[in-house]
Amino acid sequence: MSGLIPQHFIDELIARADIVEVLGHRIQLKKAGREFKACCPFHGEKTPSFTVSPAKGFYHCFGCGAHGTAISFLMEHDHLTFVEAVESVASMLGVDVPRDESQRPTRKFDELFELTRKIELDFQAQLKNHQPAVDYLKARGIDGATAKRFGIGYAPSGWSHLLDKFGTSKEATERLLAIGMIIRKDNGQHYDRFRDRLMFPIKDSRGRTIGFGGRGLGNDEPKYLNSPETVLFHKGRELYGLYEARQALRNIERLVVVEGYMDVVGLARHGIDYATATLGTATTDEHLNRLFRICDEISFCFDGDRAGRAAAWRALENALPQIRDGRQIRFVFLPDGQDPDSYVQENDASAFEKEVHEAVPLSDFLINELCAQVDMSSVDGRARLAELAKPLVSRIPAGVYKELLIERLADSVGLSASKLDTILAKDVPATRQDKQTATTRLRSRPQGGTGKPSIVRRAITLLLHHPEAARKLHVERLAGVTKPGTDLLRDLIETVHAEPNMSTAGLLERYRTHEEGRHLGKLAAVEIPTAEDFDAAAELTDCIGQLELAGERERISFLIEKERLSSLSDDERGELRGLGRSSA
Ligand SMILES: [Zn+2]
Repeated sequence: MSGLIPQHFIDELIARADIVEVLGHRIQLKKAGREFKACCPFHGEKTPSFTVSPAKGFYHCFGCGAHGTAISFLMEHDHLTFVEAVESVASMLGVDVPRDESQRPTRKFDELFELTRKIELDFQAQLKNHQPAVDYLKARGIDGATAKRFGIGYAPSGWSHLLDKFGTSKEATERLLAIGMIIRKDNGQHYDRFRDRLMFPIKDSRGRTIGFGGRGLGNDEPKYLNSPETVLFHKGRELYGLYEARQALRNIERLVVVEGYMDVVGLARHGIDYATATLGTATTDEHLNRLFRICDEISFCFDGDRAGRAAAWRALENALPQIRDGRQIRFVFLPDGQDPDSYVQENDASAFEKEVHEAVPLSDFLINELCAQVDMSSVDGRARLAELAKPLVSRIPAGVYKELLIERLADSVGLSASKLDTILAKDVPATRQDKQTATTRLRSRPQGGTGKPSIVRRAITLLLHHPEAARKLHVERLAGVTKPGTDLLRDLIETVHAEPNMSTAGLLERYRTHEEGRHLGKLAAVEIPTAEDFDAAAELTDCIGQLELAGERERISFLIEKERLSSLSDDERGELRGLGRSSA
């Protein structure tokens, strides 16, 4: 019975399990964009219609309608019970399943977090005994207080420091392996991953250490080494220094994305607490989503050299779908050969802040870079500029920002904005048009009836596909709504508020034993557009707005009916007036 396994364990398991890994052991998956495809294992077919979405933790077959999470897959495919399926996924992640509510749920994620914390403290103790590491920090201008704030430590040289200290049993060794601190050789022996390195703990949004970045002190390559992807640490999601920034600042007005942890620490040393770094990857959608949930102004800070400009361009491309009115994305280019750490040391904090204030807006950077690629003095060159801009502009969600950018581009090309708009709209790849049709389909209401139940359904579908879109919804707005399904919608929104990192699969597992579970599974399998300019949060807010209005209308007709029966109380009369229907 699922009741014996604590819900929070299942939540965490689903959040950390990689559905592609679970299914990939059993069927042959092929990457297709952000998803994976396979021939469906549940019905005979020759062309793949079985789709797996790693982001949602969900699979769906367009042929036979089979769908579900990693857990449901194991239940159906391997004919496991729920508990067996949970155990199977947990063992892949190297954690044990807590057996019942009364038993304190140790020996799972909590235990791994406890281990990373112990290792972090050990590294800090090691730092005190290793003068060359302390000297290095001093030479980089990092004082004791800053080192302490970021929990900087030292991993000793040798091959088995952690192994000897924390790998004293077979189980303990497995845990070190699960968090990526040791490496297993072919002969089954192990050795420490980080040796003779300054160690920077990487924290999740709750301040728990989920991995480490190591800066080599000797000539060891690579100079910078990060923890590998583990059950705790996902590079595409985490940002170094974000937790520390939120601790340091009550109100974050802007964030600067820099390239490495030394930059974050170096800037913090000089009082600039709003820097954060990706961990050896380009900025992902998920990074940007996290950043924009904190503030509306993001600046990317890069070297002024060629590599820096190339990295900035990649960041620009990734940021386009995230552009919204009111959000600012800008680029800081430091003088050639400088990084934020060296720049702030050579100059000072105010010089760096000046650079940030004078950062190049995304639109300027985009237009300047494109103009530099063509001969703007020729008609052909300007036509080419429009061509180059087309795929980029198409990724920006519709809105004032997009319109202004098109106007500015039109200026550069020497066309009217409407003319350019027509050119940009033409020949957009078919997939995008398909998705737009799908959006229209999703938006259109069924003929006849008021269509209101379908708004609830649409809201639930959107929320299931994009749980993060519900984070900022005000559930109180649904107070007066009595449409069928509203309670479920409210419940789902509250679940996302309580567990902001909930995925589609996580929500489905929450409702596995509820009556609504089957219904939700079907809605999660409905195809909805995944175009990059599709704004689920805006769509969802729109649904809530419509429901709120519908709720008001319901209330008004109720009050008018009461008025007609002359049974309106004074309060209700006031309410009716407040709703814009003056009662006589
Ligand atoms: Zn199928």
